[in-house]
Amino acid sequence: MLLALKKRMIYNKRMITDSHMHTKIFSTDGRQTPEELIDSAKKLGIANVAITEHYDMDYPHKDESFIFDLKEYGRTFPKWKEYSVSTGGPGLLMGIEIGWQPHLNARINETVNSLPFDSVVLSNHIFRGSDIYYSKECALIPRESRNKEYIATLARMCSELDNYDILAHYDYINRYVEDPSSSVFYDDCPNEFDALFEILISKQKALEINTSSINKQILKGSSYVMPDPKIIGRYISMGGKLFTIGSDAHDADRIGQHFAKTISYLKSLGVNEVFYFKDRKPVSDPEFLRLS
Ligand SMILES: [Zn+2]
Ligand SMILES: [Zn+2]
Repeated sequence: MLLALKKRMIYNKRMITDSHMHTKIFSTDGRQTPEELIDSAKKLGIANVAITEHYDMDYPHKDESFIFDLKEYGRTFPKWKEYSVSTGGPGLLMGIEIGWQPHLNARINETVNSLPFDSVVLSNHIFRGSDIYYSKECALIPRESRNKEYIATLARMCSELDNYDILAHYDYINRYVEDPSSSVFYDDCPNEFDALFEILISKQKALEINTSSINKQILKGSSYVMPDPKIIGRYISMGGKLFTIGSDAHDADRIGQHFAKTISYLKSLGVNEVFYFKDRKPVSDPEFLRLS
């Protein structure tokens, strides 16, 4: 009886896969060691985590580099897996967050093919030649134009490339805009969103819900904390089924952040499944169905 109860308590603690995060070993801006990451995920009861280190080639800010030694990553990752297995931690999925720019398609393809990744997250961090993190211009552009230009760029990126699994943070353009009334809304650019979703759906690529974006909106005191329901609704109505959820954690205390809230929200909008990628193939996460 006691054992059954204990087992159920352990089971109840299980959380869905976190599909996006960084360590300080290979991501320049990471602040957690793989051991801290694994220990934190274990405490939260997260079944699997995808580690998706930053790889942004030709990064425009010359004093920073967001690339790493791919061979070294391939050699090191099995040691992290061993640590996780030996400490009862989560399943580890080897991923990469690859940064797009228009001239990089061939090199991105080559990079992705160089290691047996489980999961390839495709990002666009650059807006008009500058990382959105540094961009002063970004916040000065009216919201609709800013979002329209960014979503159109994502559609181009997702169309030109095939060798990826997940579109990361479609709302990154808004992340460092301090105006709390700002967000990314479907109605800002319906044609661009439709074009993007058509590409993702026809190529069977996943749309990521990035909970770091949710966290930023909370910190700004925004009334638009969660992703625009029209965005989720339109993606579903066009036939989109592949969602992933990623914390984009650079620190151990951010892993799985806002997942419970995000799961309930997605379910309320009619999302039936959330996925993670293993061996570059989508896997429906059984924990999503169980959690409310
Ligand atoms: Zn990113
Ligand atoms: Zn990231």
